Amino acid sequence: MGIKKYEFTGEKKFDIRDFDTSDTGELSKEELHSLVSDNMALMREYQDKLYAEGKNGILIIFQAMDAAGKDGAVNHVFSGLNPQGVDVLSFKQPTSEELAHDYLWRIHKHVPQRGKIAIFNRSYYEDVLVAKVHKLYEVQNLPDRCKEEDVIHKRYGHIRDFEEYLWDNGITVVKFFLHISKDEQKKQFLERIDDKSKNWKFSKSDLSEREYWEDYQKAYEKAINKTATKQCPWYVIPSDNRWFARSLVSEVIVKVMKEIDPNYPKISKEAEADLQKCRQLLEKEE
Ligand code: ATP
Ligand code: MG
Repeated sequence: MGIKKYEFTGEKKFDIRDFDTSDTGELSKEELHSLVSDNMALMREYQDKLYAEGKNGILIIFQAMDAAGKDGAVNHVFSGLNPQGVDVLSFKQPTSEELAHDYLWRIHKHVPQRGKIAIFNRSYYEDVLVAKVHKLYEVQNLPDRCKEEDVIHKRYGHIRDFEEYLWDNGITVVKFFLHISKDEQKKQFLERIDDKSKNWKFSKSDLSEREYWEDYQKAYEKAINKTATKQCPWYVIPSDNRWFARSLVSEVIVKVMKEIDPNYPKISKEAEADLQKCRQLLEKEE
């Protein structure tokens, strides 16, 4: 399945109004399921090598409007990985301790070590999304110079630099925007209200945020255009159809892992000879 259409590296502009959130590709639901499960098997093989080699880390970021299916995507696409090599982090409203630090402080300690994969459910992008929509910096305890008009513009620069810094340290950053329509969000909210097992996922504040839909769309468009680079592209995933979204996410992850091309470490001639000696000792055991 082609993913080029959904990839933004800074060369073509992302126009959020032009983007069809209901795109479903050409595959049937059954075919999408089997594509995801084939990709999960490949991801597992690559992950084993990634861990053994310990040279590259992968940081996967999910951003989306409420109820776009971030949890489901994480749950379905990554459930085949070895949990020892993966960390999943959810970034919620910052605590007072986090707010007392620079905005990357809470992030940096969760960047994966080389050999591992970290999945961020929301991320530092919130600091150019919700922070932009509500001008949160204006009410935070910051010096005046950090509250000026261009604060968000500066943050795009920090983020580009941070991601380049990670890239230069062996960490590949992969960014997904699970993009849904306003109608699809309504449908999902209604399901959260009607289905008792989903009530806990709904909060009244989700409705007040929905009123800022247009502002968020603009903030996403800007953030994506400002931070899409060749090394750390954005993938805008049409997500009204959840299985299509999951299949695209799995395609992207497989592509990224393939490009990293991890290998089991090669051992020296001496180490190989030692292994053979150990084999003989084991075989001689009574
Ligand atoms: P769902 O899509 O299922 O609703 P969620 O990711 O929205 O899941 P919630 O606990 O509902 O999870 O919301 C987390 C909230 O934290 C979001 O509204 C998000 O905007 C907010 N948040 C995350 N990071 C920041 C930040 N740096 N500053 C302010 N708010 C933030
Ligand atoms: Mg929410």
